[in-house]
Amino acid sequence: MIELAAALARVEEVAAALRPRRVPLMAAVGRTLVAAIEAAGDSPPWDRAMMDGFAVRNADLAADGTAILDVVVDLAAGDVSGISIAPGGCARIMTGAPLPPGADAVVPVECAVEGTAEAHAGGQVRLCDRRFRPGQHVARRATAFGRGDTVLPAGSRLSPAAVGVAVEAGATHVLVLPPPRVAILSTGSELVPPDAEPGFGQTRNSNGPMLRAAVLAAGGDPVPLGIVGDRPEALRAAVAQGLAADVVVLSGGVSAGDLDLVPIVCADCGVEEVFHKVRLKPGKPVWFGCHRRGDGQSLVFGLPGNPASSLVCFELFVRPALAIMAGVPAGGWHLPRVAAVLTASARAAADRPIYAPCRVRRTSGGITAEPLPWSGSADLVGLAVAEGLLVLPAGAGTLAAGATVEVVVRDGHRVEGW
Ligand code: AMP
Ligand code: MG
Repeated sequence: MIELAAALARVEEVAAALRPRRVPLMAAVGRTLVAAIEAAGDSPPWDRAMMDGFAVRNADLAADGTAILDVVVDLAAGDVSGISIAPGGCARIMTGAPLPPGADAVVPVECAVEGTAEAHAGGQVRLCDRRFRPGQHVARRATAFGRGDTVLPAGSRLSPAAVGVAVEAGATHVLVLPPPRVAILSTGSELVPPDAEPGFGQTRNSNGPMLRAAVLAAGGDPVPLGIVGDRPEALRAAVAQGLAADVVVLSGGVSAGDLDLVPIVCADCGVEEVFHKVRLKPGKPVWFGCHRRGDGQSLVFGLPGNPASSLVCFELFVRPALAIMAGVPAGGWHLPRVAAVLTASARAAADRPIYAPCRVRRTSGGITAEPLPWSGSADLVGLAVAEGLLVLPAGAGTLAAGATVEVVVRDGHRVEGW
């Protein structure tokens, strides 16, 4: 049995970033870019009108912002005419159209006076723009970025805005770290599918869907492999199938029972044990190993079958591994830990730290942690609504209300007042 910190350190040592892959832009949303995106052209690609109005020559406006100009061409967004604006002329122009040669600024249509706002090519417009500045309402070519500029550095996440910039820069495919593929295998001869009515002695496979949801929430690509009974041959075949993925997450079969076959079957399949059993409650039986091949490796997590143990171990061990595989530097990802004041007493265990479900609140008096009712490793009800895990150190006895404790704030759980 090892300490939690040592176990986490081993996971961080073994997990490695996946091999980058070139994928279509929309397949990369949310992923980390491995290579910077450089602009294939300028943005804007030409001087662009930023208002609906009249494209004018700066010099044609009098000092008070007035001018009487002949409209020589109409330009909507997308129109190009090749007609130049000579002194005394202007173009009727809409937002998004390229500024015609000779023009330097746009006077908004609201500044056309005496009913001349409707003037089109062949007509005349009278302008009065008291706030006229030379060059106004024009986005100059290459002011956002120029051809060859880095618009998104390596290491950045492809956010919605990043998708927009990438398209603007002409990128259709990008090099990213793919989402880790995570095979999920529920072991136990007592298990029945989630939609079945369990008979006496049978249990619905709740861990399978729960872990699938956890993998999705962690940005992984779940590969559900269903249920396998506690039979060595069947388990061996299922683990071998799972090893095609980057990660195999098993639930059940890692404790000390007669049919807890996961460690031995994994060893048979060439998975090297890294640790088995961590000083932790819930989750003590957790098992971790690595299967190395020529072209890479698969990490194998044997999570205990009890649902609360499975989920706590997923959050403490599997999530950091998935983050590292997706490009977060080792040590760069962790669930935030905060100091909080207990709102009610909580009892620690003698032999190992407890990670118990709690509510977390930010109040005027600081952060509070309210222990949630929790009957142990088979009880998920508290965890389903818990924003945090209360860390109760081994041998701390009963901690009274008002005591300061450490809380692990769970990812994706909104804390009121935060
Ligand atoms: P094990 O870790 O295999 O000894 O299982 C511990 C407890 O968790 C037993 O009561 C199992 O029935 C239960 N369990 C195991 N796997 C699952 C699962 N996939 N869904 C729900 N409960 C499970
Ligand atoms: Mg079992």
